Amino acid sequence: MHDSPELTADERATYEWQMWVPGVGEEGQQRLKGASVLVSRIGGVGGTAAYELAAAGVGRLILAHAGNIKPSDLNRQLLMTHADIGTSRVESAARRLRELNPRLEVVTVPENVNAGNAARLVGLADVVIDAAPLFEERLAMNGEAVRQGKPLVEAAMYELSVQVTTILPGQTACLACRVPEPPPDWKRQFPVFGAVAGVAGCVAAVEVIKLICGLGEPLADRLLVWELREMGFRLFRTRRRPGCLVCSALPQVEGASR
Ligand SMILES: [Zn+2]
Repeated sequence: MHDSPELTADERATYEWQMWVPGVGEEGQQRLKGASVLVSRIGGVGGTAAYELAAAGVGRLILAHAGNIKPSDLNRQLLMTHADIGTSRVESAARRLRELNPRLEVVTVPENVNAGNAARLVGLADVVIDAAPLFEERLAMNGEAVRQGKPLVEAAMYELSVQVTTILPGQTACLACRVPEPPPDWKRQFPVFGAVAGVAGCVAAVEVIKLICGLGEPLADRLLVWELREMGFRLFRTRRRPGCLVCSALPQVEGASR
């Protein structure tokens, strides 16, 4: 979001229908074109978010995800293909995203986020989506996003439940305010339908689009919990925790906590 490059005639034709959304227009589309978004893990949640951001005309996506495609990825990871089993996840994702939007710049990082690479990866982005399955990864990302002052959209799902919140450093609670340490009984593998993961990814993409274009109200200090089993939708208030080792040293930004 450092500059707002001019749109080409081809881009105006492609994004015409979303530019009709009040508050977007030419300027909003230019902001999307000038934006860089980091997506941590491009599985069921992050892959769907990346797809929607590529479709919306975000100029650059940085995709971080280690490893190769397994058969068990394919019930939810829509950027992966059966033919690509055994090959790199990020390269498969980049190929699919470029097929959708050849204007997109994709930076592929075949690594999961950790304390050693988080500073470099967050430094490449204006906004971050965290869709990692492990709290160690999420807390590393949270710490670095807060340190660099980058907005962070936390998107998660479990079984038929979706959770999304948006962290604005210095304004809202951070992840460590709610979860200071990785829960000891957390498991890497859990029940997931692709359709549920996709809901989380789409909500996260909407949050990023809103942040970039300055639309509406982000999920700042609000945790959206969407129980798809009953189709119940709740918003929980979050608050900065005094003594949080990540964010308590930051000054409170005026008017941020509502
Ligand atoms: Zn905090």
